[in-house]
Amino acid sequence: MKKIAILGSTGSIGRQTLDVIDQYPERFTVSVLTCDRNVLLLEQQIQRFQPAIAVTSLECDARQLATKYPGVTFLFGSAGLCQAVRSDCSMVVNALVGMRGMIPTQEALRAGKDVALANKETLVAGGHLIMEEAQRHNTRILPVDSEHSAIFQCLGENPQKGEIKRLILTASGGPFRGYTKEQLEAVTVEEALCHPNWSMGRKITIDSATMMNKGLEIIEAKWLFSLPEQQIHVAVHPQSIIHSMVEFIDDSVLAQLANPDMRGPIGYALGYPERLEAMKNPLDLFGKASNLTFEKPDEETFACMRLARQAIADPYSSYPIVLNAANEVLVQLFLEKKIKFLDIQNNIERMLSSHQPEYRIDAGRTLEIDQGVRQETLRRAVFE
Ligand code: MG
Repeated sequence: MKKIAILGSTGSIGRQTLDVIDQYPERFTVSVLTCDRNVLLLEQQIQRFQPAIAVTSLECDARQLATKYPGVTFLFGSAGLCQAVRSDCSMVVNALVGMRGMIPTQEALRAGKDVALANKETLVAGGHLIMEEAQRHNTRILPVDSEHSAIFQCLGENPQKGEIKRLILTASGGPFRGYTKEQLEAVTVEEALCHPNWSMGRKITIDSATMMNKGLEIIEAKWLFSLPEQQIHVAVHPQSIIHSMVEFIDDSVLAQLANPDMRGPIGYALGYPERLEAMKNPLDLFGKASNLTFEKPDEETFACMRLARQAIADPYSSYPIVLNAANEVLVQLFLEKKIKFLDIQNNIERMLSSHQPEYRIDAGRTLEIDQGVRQETLRRAVFE
């Protein structure tokens, strides 16, 4: 029986993780649930899954729930998240959105827990810190992102690095695939939130529309598989059936295929090293998968991918922190309809070009730079 702690259980990945767990009551129990503001859904999840610990953002929510559920320990804030990951559990699923996922990931690894990581910002901003922590404590980071899960499934746990020629991340291209810059000028929030293949949270759906999601995934792949950015390529594959590929030195290519459903990579991470049986969503080779196509990504129009590559050119620099923090702020401003779609990439570029980089910094300094960049991005995007 695996005890699973789920950080961000009321979000899209968190809910789908509970979906998977619900199907295998003989394999998994839930030990920790956490929410940001959706206390109502957290309560329903508490009643259904009876965790030992639940964490809310606000202290008042934790206090109020504690009176209703005396059998559950309620904690709050980021200290609460850190305490929760140190508790009795065999795996932590980190499905938090954004930078606040970094410290709990670090804490979980320090406590010797395997981490199923859906929070890509953790690796983008703190890649070297997180990977060093995992190595030091001999723990695993299991990717929950579909692309990295695909590569992990193709490579196995201890691949021969010298045999890998390149990784090929697939990208759906999002709702604006094939658009020109002029067309992108006028796109709306509603259009950007309409992803053709995947059901995901709002932040990542906008990241898919700008293609920053693929940029973040290049950085994520760089750390997870310790390969230079030049060996990580992207192919647009609108059907989202092939989730990524590995090309080896003998020109042989391995790919992983499945219907686009996040419960696949979630289930693979939860069950690892075993595979879970029957998610009841088999691939129809003669239906949806009968016509698979590929296109070159347009990094001129969708500049975010190019900017991500620039940021990770020296992986130990602070540029990726800037890329990530500026992006989080700008996506939020776009969702609030305060800036236009192309303002996202234009402002990230401005923030990167004015940044004075620092190298090999620790978690504390990472958070300081992150905070500074957020304020500066907000100021420039709204007032300049
Ligand atoms: Mg992905």
